[in-house]
Amino acid sequence: MLRLLEMTYADLTEVFAERFGKGPFLAGALYREFYKQLNPQAWQAAAIARSPGLPARLRQALAFEPGDVVDDVQQEGVVKFVTALKDGHCIESVFLPMESHGTICVSSQAGCRMGCRFCETARLGLVRQLSVEEIVGQVYDARRRFGTRVRNVVFMGMGEPFDNFDAVIAAVRVLSDQRGLDIAQRYITISTAGRIDGIEKLAGLDMPHLKLAVSLNAPNDDLRSQLMPINRTAPLDRLQRALMAYPLKKGYAIMIGYVLMPGVNDGVACARQLARWLIPLSAKVNLIPFNPGTASPYPTPTEEELDTFRQRLIDLGVNVQKRAPRGRDLMAACGQLGNAATMV
Ligand code: SF4
Repeated sequence: MLRLLEMTYADLTEVFAERFGKGPFLAGALYREFYKQLNPQAWQAAAIARSPGLPARLRQALAFEPGDVVDDVQQEGVVKFVTALKDGHCIESVFLPMESHGTICVSSQAGCRMGCRFCETARLGLVRQLSVEEIVGQVYDARRRFGTRVRNVVFMGMGEPFDNFDAVIAAVRVLSDQRGLDIAQRYITISTAGRIDGIEKLAGLDMPHLKLAVSLNAPNDDLRSQLMPINRTAPLDRLQRALMAYPLKKGYAIMIGYVLMPGVNDGVACARQLARWLIPLSAKVNLIPFNPGTASPYPTPTEEELDTFRQRLIDLGVNVQKRAPRGRDLMAACGQLGNAATMV
């Protein structure tokens, strides 16, 4: 079967010539109908209809199985989607509208094996990898609902993207195809819990505009190993070295995610250790208030606690931004996806 959600335009022209004996004009018509008109039944394109027998052959050959959105909840403009995949497993994605554009936060796996202590998804364990079609399908669906406002894509939903490296990179290539959804790679961010081999692999791909984020959450090995088991095999000094070696484009910064949990990682010593760890890096800290999960062992910071930690970092010369906790009540905020991801 041909899955357009897994194909760049170049892939399609090759297949079109080999399998249908047709040239780039008709391949382009099909691709445009699918990605610009957002019509999954792209064989209905006018140019295709004029080619005898082709619509019927394409109708048989094309598969479209990104899953079905079975639930969506909205709050403060933030929309959380639950998509049932064809085998019944569910994944979640979140759309966050901004003034001039919007960001879709996508999942790369159903569940996750990383076991981060503060994360809802971790409680599921790894259910399975998502296919390229299931990843791109989340953005395709968002485009159909929200149009070209969907400009940014962040791999910060369910799953560790580098655990599904090949599918994630293939999805990035499809998403950024100018003849398709045309989401520039500078608007796509891959966030890792700290898989050093993944960072190194990405560094070797020559995708300089793609943004890299690291979910750090603790500034010393003792605490980070408690919160994020990956730190036991990929400790902070090795992570720092991998980030120092990462070929960052001029003017770019690595986004360091820091979920603030009062009494856990918000002390003066933590701020100092974090600032010290960041010194050799071109990085920006994204300070995220911890959001209470269904069985959360950690408290949520007050605005004052957030501002205090942020100011500590600023005083230490750290480039830091604070993220508003929109979508908290939807369980759509950071570390919150996964509570609905069960079999349907
Ligand atoms: S925070 Fe990310 S890497 Fe950690 S368990 Fe959750 S989804 Fe996986």
